[in-house]
Amino acid sequence: MSYFSTRGGAAVTASQAILSGIAPSGGLYVPGIYPQVSLQWIDSLTRMSYPERAAAVLSLFLEDYTPAEIQEAVNAAYSPERFDDAQIAPLRKLDGNTWLMELFHGPTLAFKDMALQLLPHLIRLAARKNGEEREIAILVATSGDTGKAALEGFRDVPGTSCTVFYPAEGVSDIQQLQMTTTGGNNTRVIAVEGNFDDAQTGVKELFGSLDFRARMAEKGRVLSSANSINFGRLVPQVVYYFSAYADLINAGEIVCGEPLNFSVPTGNFGDILAGEYARRMGLPVGRLLCASNRNNVLTDFFNTGIYSVHRLFYKTTSPSMDILVSSNLERLLYEAAGRDGELVRVWMRQLREVGSYSIGEQRLEELRKVFAGDYAEERDVVRAIHAVHEQTGVVIDPHTAVATHVLHNYRQHSGDARPGVIVATASPYKFCADVLRALRGDAAAEGLDAFACAEKLEQLSGVPVPAQIRELREKPVNHRMRCSKKPVDMADAVLAD
Ligand SMILES: *Cc1c(COP(=O)(O)O)cnc(C)c1O
Repeated sequence: MSYFSTRGGAAVTASQAILSGIAPSGGLYVPGIYPQVSLQWIDSLTRMSYPERAAAVLSLFLEDYTPAEIQEAVNAAYSPERFDDAQIAPLRKLDGNTWLMELFHGPTLAFKDMALQLLPHLIRLAARKNGEEREIAILVATSGDTGKAALEGFRDVPGTSCTVFYPAEGVSDIQQLQMTTTGGNNTRVIAVEGNFDDAQTGVKELFGSLDFRARMAEKGRVLSSANSINFGRLVPQVVYYFSAYADLINAGEIVCGEPLNFSVPTGNFGDILAGEYARRMGLPVGRLLCASNRNNVLTDFFNTGIYSVHRLFYKTTSPSMDILVSSNLERLLYEAAGRDGELVRVWMRQLREVGSYSIGEQRLEELRKVFAGDYAEERDVVRAIHAVHEQTGVVIDPHTAVATHVLHNYRQHSGDARPGVIVATASPYKFCADVLRALRGDAAAEGLDAFACAEKLEQLSGVPVPAQIRELREKPVNHRMRCSKKPVDMADAVLAD
């Protein structure tokens, strides 16, 4: 199968798409076709472990990887040493027709691990297949969770290095500590004086800069990306949509063929796009609910067909979704445009030059058959955390709370009571103070540091504080670099020895 660029042209293999991360035109790689699966194939997943399900899905996309390579990679990535739940992506029932899909059982306690534990293996294999002997220099812009997950994935992986840019004032205390205490001799963590969009725009410019690439090449390094623009981030995420479906069949909750709705807390549109890929492959999916926080650019897009960044940027309690320019939407636009790369190129140019584009009524109508966009205000997040704890005893994080609110609203307004899966993207322990405030009022967290808040959450939830959080208190801070949001400064920060 060939991979094409969303902005036209390019026909590369899966391993080439994964190795380079982004197409030369600035577009994103998409598969030439969506492999089709039958209900029988889906039913066969019910008898498999998570790594086996992953191998089954991956092998449909990664045609130039051997079955043995894929099997070895998924076994290494989804191992009991790395995930604290044997199911890897367990479902937890909240009520008669609602489940949480918990994607935060990996080393960094957020769903980014689902892809970033696997990506280093896929990149290493891709380098070998393509005779790439230079150091693979991974550049990452993070809104909080990708950074640590990438650092953990690539730490001390031979032949690679990993540089992470995070917004200096835009991540939670725990997220920042997780990143700045990272060890490894090939990692670098840099605070950018700006917000996530500044960091992401800067990194995209570095990818597009021939001068920067040349300076990296002089040092024997070649660039790649661990952001969700890399197809290698997307394909591991397709797996858990199938896995959740198989688990619900096993639990006797659905019969094979019955559609499920998913509510997905969305920032860069990577997670939910993987759900759309699963649907296009044949997974019975009813609606995909695109759940945003107050930065609701995607809600407006799904309601009007107009994407516009002329709006205020808000810092919220769900920082991993504080994003105005949602990169992966480009892959959906490519389908909405009937795979016309020229048209996507025009929209992306308009976005760059005037800050908005419109896809038109007809295309919007098509998208809305599957997608529904909605958002949660901060007070809705607080209420959702509180209500879920009250009704079920389960403590959810603010990102998951956004999706919970949106599913609830959707059901009320549409009357669609199909089984619904809320994608739970982070452990509440990553956002202890905000979660504690939501459960017990603002005063409850006053004067407490993140660790003290974690202790209190443990009492409330009965779930032990994860070791990854406890350990942070003792770990030395190894990374203190800062730079401005100017791409030249970011380039110098990467090139400095
Ligand atoms: C990254 C992230 C999201 C958003 O996922 P996208 O793929 O960027 O849409 C939501 N919640 C958490 C906790 C995240 O880390």
